[in-house]
Amino acid sequence: MEPMSKDKTAKKLRCIQRSVNRHWVGNGFPVRTLFSYPNLGPVLTPFLLLDYAGPMEFPPTDERLGVGEHPHRGFETVTIVYSGEVEHRDSSGGSGRIGPGDVQWMTAGSGVVHEEFHGRDFARRGGRFEMVQLWVNLPRKAKRTPPRYQSILSTQIPVVNLPDHRGTVRVIAGDLLDHQGPAQTFTPIHVWDLHLAGNRETTLTVTDGHTLALAVLEGAVQVNGSETIGAAEVGLFDRHGKTLCLTSTQDTKVLLLSGEPIDEPIVGSGPFVMNTAEEIQQAMADYRSGRMGHLS
Ligand code: MN
Repeated sequence: MEPMSKDKTAKKLRCIQRSVNRHWVGNGFPVRTLFSYPNLGPVLTPFLLLDYAGPMEFPPTDERLGVGEHPHRGFETVTIVYSGEVEHRDSSGGSGRIGPGDVQWMTAGSGVVHEEFHGRDFARRGGRFEMVQLWVNLPRKAKRTPPRYQSILSTQIPVVNLPDHRGTVRVIAGDLLDHQGPAQTFTPIHVWDLHLAGNRETTLTVTDGHTLALAVLEGAVQVNGSETIGAAEVGLFDRHGKTLCLTSTQDTKVLLLSGEPIDEPIVGSGPFVMNTAEEIQQAMADYRSGRMGHLS
């Protein structure tokens, strides 16, 4: 017998991922990989990887900080900036600079070559840098879709106020309480940027059948009255269930990722994620021969 008060519709926490190791991506992104598909693919799908860069103070510099030309195929990269600026340029002609609160949603699809750097002006001023990059898988039928680039500014992202000053939710993708996020996605996905006030309890309605991941960037949340997810940790949940009760012990910044699973084989290597080893070989050959384009 379970206690009467236990919410039967709650999504159960399956595990908490912690990353202690930081590595540098290029010379600009001090990254902790909070989850990745090689060990957790079927649990994470449609999400593949979550890199958390910073927070870190950068001194002023004239150097270019980041990663130069490299390819991607078969998925999307979603960059969310919390502090600092990111500049991007790709072989399909897409480019842009985003700052705090802004999002770049890049569909690599059939293949792009791109570069990612700190914004030049930000690098010259120096300051706090913090961003997240999420990789979202594409279903087999969309892996060869033409590359697309969505630059989503903070002003386009609806902000939902939680009742009783519990905090705010920025709806980047999907929806919450009739507020529709601006990102266009290939499969049903919700990406919510939550700011929870300290010592409050919030119950969110989430999608039954979706994969759910909660990445805590700052602060801590207790989930469904039991385990606590701390900073730079990710809670991964069962697909079953449609509510989530979060108790914040302090002011807390959380990224909520919810997505319809893509139950297809995942075969990846470096910057390519496809369904078969042959498709990976093809991606490497296409990149080497210049068929993914070049930066002008
Ligand atoms: Mn990249």
